[in-house]
Amino acid sequence: MPENKIGPWKNVWESMAPTKVKCFAWLVITKACLTHEILQKKGLPIVSRCMLCIEARETNNHLFLHCKVTSLLWTMFLSLTETKWSMPEHANLLSCWIRRGGSKTQKTWWRIIPHCIWWTIRREKNGRNFEDRFNNIQKIKGSCIATFYFWCKEHCIENAEQLVDLLGLP
Ligand SMILES: [Zn+2]
Repeated sequence: MPENKIGPWKNVWESMAPTKVKCFAWLVITKACLTHEILQKKGLPIVSRCMLCIEARETNNHLFLHCKVTSLLWTMFLSLTETKWSMPEHANLLSCWIRRGGSKTQKTWWRIIPHCIWWTIRREKNGRNFEDRFNNIQKIKGSCIATFYFWCKEHCIENAEQLVDLLGLP
């Protein structure tokens, strides 16, 4: 394995997200996910348009980092924790992100957030592509938070009050 892949590998697989989600996160990190960008590189004559914002080409970086819909999910978690952040490229994203967590428990939660965002984006994109199902941003945010809470509760929650604090709930 190339040296620069060891960090992301560890950060992807140490997450408490379900295994299928970790596999998907690995595809995102290594830019192997089947986006329009990849399909065009394989020679498919498609006109690329991001299904979430309809404003840009669907590239890996756009869809999972910079799309305005995806950005709202990153911002949602950052605002809950009052964290300042500028989005790096994939190779550094997970290690930079995980350093943000405070205590060991918080780090465990932080580790789940990128997986949670990417899984939510995948679900919404597939819904729009294959089921003609469009959720508005409030529903997408709600679904992302519900997924985050479910995974924390299933696998790693140690103290419900800490999680409520982290999420900024009343
Ligand atoms: Zn977009």
